[in-house]
Amino acid sequence: MQIMDALVRAQEAAAPEVGHGRLANYIPSLAAVDPRQFGMVIASCDGQVHVIGDADVRFSVQSISKVFTLTLVVAAEGERIWERVSREPSGNPFNSLLQLDQEVGRPRNPFINAGALVVTDRLHSLTGNACEALGDLLRRESGHDDVVSDPEVARSELEAGHRTSALAHLLASYGNLECPVDQVINQYVAQCAFSMTCRELALAGLFLARDGVLADGTRLLSARQTKRVNAVMLTCGTYDSAGEFAYRVGLPAKSGVGGGILAIIPDRGVACVWSPALGPTGSSAAGLAALDAFTTYSDWTVF
Ligand code: GLN
Repeated sequence: MQIMDALVRAQEAAAPEVGHGRLANYIPSLAAVDPRQFGMVIASCDGQVHVIGDADVRFSVQSISKVFTLTLVVAAEGERIWERVSREPSGNPFNSLLQLDQEVGRPRNPFINAGALVVTDRLHSLTGNACEALGDLLRRESGHDDVVSDPEVARSELEAGHRTSALAHLLASYGNLECPVDQVINQYVAQCAFSMTCRELALAGLFLARDGVLADGTRLLSARQTKRVNAVMLTCGTYDSAGEFAYRVGLPAKSGVGGGILAIIPDRGVACVWSPALGPTGSSAAGLAALDAFTTYSDWTVF
């Protein structure tokens, strides 16, 4: 089936889910988003971009940012981050404190909040400003200079972010942060508050489908490192529904509570879908249905 036809099928499959589910109301400014929106983009390695729905509406990338921060840390210093963070699925909610305490301050993986805080801490140490480094990458790869972090969303999360603060302090109590705790928390909420469209995010993530090669032909990750980032996305990118997601979609992917999901089809391209209403584990319900249908009707799948 042609990509555009598969996108139409995906939108149809998602329609019953659009607007149904909860918003990330623990971040007050995300609770104000209209949940009836839906957009999807397929960007292929050969430069073609197919879009449907609200593909050019900006939304809060939230945890999708964690793929890019992990990438930048791995690009800078290879495997060292795994001395501080594991790479196993957590089977627990993304903001769980219990597991971190039981496992003496070593987060299960870099995509749950505790692990992402450690990655951001490391990126901040390495670059002097984690969000600037992240923004540079997102702007360069998306081709949009005005991709920035939304200060209102960051402030909103900071004010309500008691669990994030608790996780950061717990990490610090186990000696697993290098930078001052407040700096790490500020950088983390700011990285999550980047505002991007499906089109921009798909283009920004395309290097993960191109064995680590950026839009200008230079290499950010080695092919081996890219394979590994994709593997961690497959096993941990959708938190405690990673098994269900792999079963239904079968692609490495990262979701965020803004309702976006970025999925990688190695050597083919990237799918990015957005619809704000979330299913029970914090990933977009309509996005999951759309990707399920897309991989069913197109042959864009890894399995
Ligand atoms: N900023 C959000 C948080 O820390 C990100 C969570 C997510 O997108 N899963 O809770």
